[in-house]
Amino acid sequence: MKNIIFIAPPAAGKGTVSNLLKEKYKYNHISTGDLLRNVNKNTDLGKRVQEIMEQGQLVSDELVTELLKEKLKEIDGNFILDGYPRNITQANILDEILDELNINNIMAIYINISKEEAMKRALSRLICPKCKKIYNKFNDEAKPKKENICDNCGIELKTRDDDNEESFKVRFETYINNVKPILDFYKSKNMLKEVSSQTSNITFNMIEKLINEDKND
Ligand code: AMP
Repeated sequence: MKNIIFIAPPAAGKGTVSNLLKEKYKYNHISTGDLLRNVNKNTDLGKRVQEIMEQGQLVSDELVTELLKEKLKEIDGNFILDGYPRNITQANILDEILDELNINNIMAIYINISKEEAMKRALSRLICPKCKKIYNKFNDEAKPKKENICDNCGIELKTRDDDNEESFKVRFETYINNVKPILDFYKSKNMLKEVSSQTSNITFNMIEKLINEDKND
């Protein structure tokens, strides 16, 4: 089974689909956003990272790359990369890292979504701080069974600090400004597939089909 690189704007559903793929196919889910959120907030570095993330801007390529490299060395088995590369420099760096680690079975999947829909989702997104399951309070298919409580852990759901309108706009613009060269990069390597984001189950089914088609090639 191929390793997956997700390329998608914020709130396109890559986190939710990654969780479903992880459950069903035992993928390791590497989210650079999660790696950064886990940097100790009591350190100067942690505080700076939190500030950048809350503004919706990108953290330095060096720091994210360092965290990613460590994680890639640590895991065993196939992985989903969620949130990296975010610009063409990172796409080139990733190519080198994967070469170094002798990993070449990769599929890049672009999840397309309009800004309006992504914004709507970001502003109603809830996350379980423990198991990281993602909910949407205004979507019947994605709401928790009990209001504001995680179905799995029974604890209170949270909103992300950067899921506000101001930060979302910066994140979306940053994404749009950087994505075209990344898509061209993977297209030129014949590694790119595309789906458009729908409900999480439909998006998951489309991605599952891509993975299984590829397995049968
Ligand atoms: P995400 O969880 O993927 O939406 O990422 C949340 C935030 O983490 C982003 O808005 C950035 O501030 C930061 N971030 C995540 N991945 C990267 C990356 N590859 N490069 C730079 N910053 C990143």
